Amino acid sequence: MNYTLRPTATGHDYAAELNPEQYAAVTTDARHALVIAGAGSGKTRTLTYRVARLLECGVAPWRILLLTFTNKAAREMLERVAALAGMGAGQIWGGTFHSVANRILRLHATRLGYQPGFTILDGDDQRALFRALTKQFAGKTAKSERFPKAEVLQGLHSLAINTGRSWQLTLRTDYAQLDKHEEAIGKIFDAYHTRKMESNAMDFDDLLTNLLKLLQEHEDIRADLQGRFLHVLVDEYQDTNILQASIVGLLAGGQQTSLMVVGDDAQSIYSWRGADVDHIFRFSDTYPDAEVFKIETNYRSVPSILEISNAAISNNTRQFAKVLRPARDNGRMKPAVIPAPDNRTEARFIAQRIDELMAAGIAGKDIAVLYRAHFHSMDVQMELTRNHIPYRITSGLRFFEQAHIKDVVAWLRLLSNPRDEVAFRRIVSTFPRVGEATATKLWQAWYSVADAWLTAHPDSACITAPHSEVFAKMTVPAAARPHWGGFLASMDALHPADQVLTPAELVHKVQNFMDAHLRASYENYEERLEDISQLTRSLSDAADLDAFLSQVALLSEDDTQTEVDPDCVTLSTIHQAKGLEWKVVFVIFLGEGLFPHYRVIQSSDPVAVEEELRLFYVALTRAEDQLYLSYPRYNGHSYDSQFCPPSRFLTALPPELYELWNL
Ligand code: ATP
Ligand code: MG
Repeated sequence: MNYTLRPTATGHDYAAELNPEQYAAVTTDARHALVIAGAGSGKTRTLTYRVARLLECGVAPWRILLLTFTNKAAREMLERVAALAGMGAGQIWGGTFHSVANRILRLHATRLGYQPGFTILDGDDQRALFRALTKQFAGKTAKSERFPKAEVLQGLHSLAINTGRSWQLTLRTDYAQLDKHEEAIGKIFDAYHTRKMESNAMDFDDLLTNLLKLLQEHEDIRADLQGRFLHVLVDEYQDTNILQASIVGLLAGGQQTSLMVVGDDAQSIYSWRGADVDHIFRFSDTYPDAEVFKIETNYRSVPSILEISNAAISNNTRQFAKVLRPARDNGRMKPAVIPAPDNRTEARFIAQRIDELMAAGIAGKDIAVLYRAHFHSMDVQMELTRNHIPYRITSGLRFFEQAHIKDVVAWLRLLSNPRDEVAFRRIVSTFPRVGEATATKLWQAWYSVADAWLTAHPDSACITAPHSEVFAKMTVPAAARPHWGGFLASMDALHPADQVLTPAELVHKVQNFMDAHLRASYENYEERLEDISQLTRSLSDAADLDAFLSQVALLSEDDTQTEVDPDCVTLSTIHQAKGLEWKVVFVIFLGEGLFPHYRVIQSSDPVAVEEELRLFYVALTRAEDQLYLSYPRYNGHSYDSQFCPPSRFLTALPPELYELWNL
């Protein structure tokens, strides 16, 4: 018999905490629903409350799938859900498309021809592989004719996949200047695919394409997942690409499944990664039964900030008109526009103003400095440091992209997947005197032994016998010989016969093996050691090596800066600030050529300029109470200093909407 438990009564008054439009969306029984509304109107809040309500109504958490733009956003929403619904939201499937894809593929990748325990190649690994392949396939051309760099190949490859087009077509439309290298690029891409399969590895794009393939081609798995998920919810839907939209369609394809997507077309800022705002526009065509909810009240910003944001975005022609009324009372001040004589003075202004605000009682965590590109933050970083103002920086080198962290992780990856070429190369290239050519020879020898062993032991995902025995007869090039024995012994030490080491223990051991290399390679050796220790501290909850490695790979997607001081100012690119809010926001480097970027201006592509303007709109709409817009008239002091007129986005603003501050 089925025994139904009554929903837990938390006494939560949804109607009081939501406006009627939000409430209708939270409680709808529609199978397909679209919430389309402007910035700060409570779209994310609506999704959060809906999840809480579903739990209260007795939906099992593991039958809810919540797709968000960052893993951090998912965590925050689920914490909020737990607080609202008064129960654990732990079993909800929540996270980025990539993390959910990883989770599903961990279970089923063998159906696509992968071995158990595949590894994930992040951006840096991809570039390393492209560099090696360029050497191999473009040979002399690579040196003589400005052959595209690894980053460019990576961009082309990824854009093609994320827009669902062939790379040849993408090359012609978006990378026309590479036309003459088409043949060599083709060879490189083919080899790239083969190498990934041989290494039993997927890059980030593979996570999406493979999930889609799995869902399309394996009916049993599709049916299983469609039966599992009763509710699929997607935030920031305006930034989904074709792959993601198709995945959503399939995961939410069950007869019983409801789908709710929320978004704002005016905040679509990822077309350079293949996002297509048309998915949100066409939602009602795809699902003719879709119920559409519009929220027309902004809860985030004071009216003066809302007005200036609305004025800014009104210059875009291609957008759906939205009414957005302020819910808040008038704030104390108009947004400020600050022309600074140069970048250093601009930074001095920011630091001094932040200092005053903090002295007046505003917490550091309520203040953000936003910019279009990471390097725009350099002066502000220095000035804040000089003034002892703590900050965290969410752009720039992320924790797991740092070389020394990757060095350590490579050992663990090789341990878990002996076919991992990128990891192997990374390790052996830390041996003195081992260059590209020796590494290749070593890899070939290693691979044939490893592959033979794994084929002979089909039940093992990794080599379980001592490495020193398995690889005893392998031919080792002279340059690598002095270190080879030590390397094999170290690998043996990582899996002693009688016990399985935890990820933290493994990291600790590897750190010892690598000590000499780290000392010799990095001048700030001490700091880097701290980073490595932090690695074990942050991820100590990982159950086993595979879980640990997936976490590491997926976290490099996200911001994982360790926050030294919880009350610190945020420095972030605008892209990374999407969906977030602060009491005080500074947008810096608003000079023509800096923002919009001069390349966009030169391309004179109206679509690209409109995307820059949407980015500007995203920046402005992050602010709750105070907004400062500044630019340096000169960027730099020496012979290469650039003169910057104010950005066209600033000059287009009606002067009555802001106050000019002269320094
Ligand atoms: P964005 O477009 O930037 O992602 P959003 O539409 O997702 O914004 P939220 O972040 O959900 O907006 O909400 C903006 C702010 O307004 C939050 O601080 C939220 O708590 C608050 N808010 C939203 N709706 C209400 C409401 N009905 N009553 C009180 N506060 C609200
Ligand atoms: Mg939001």
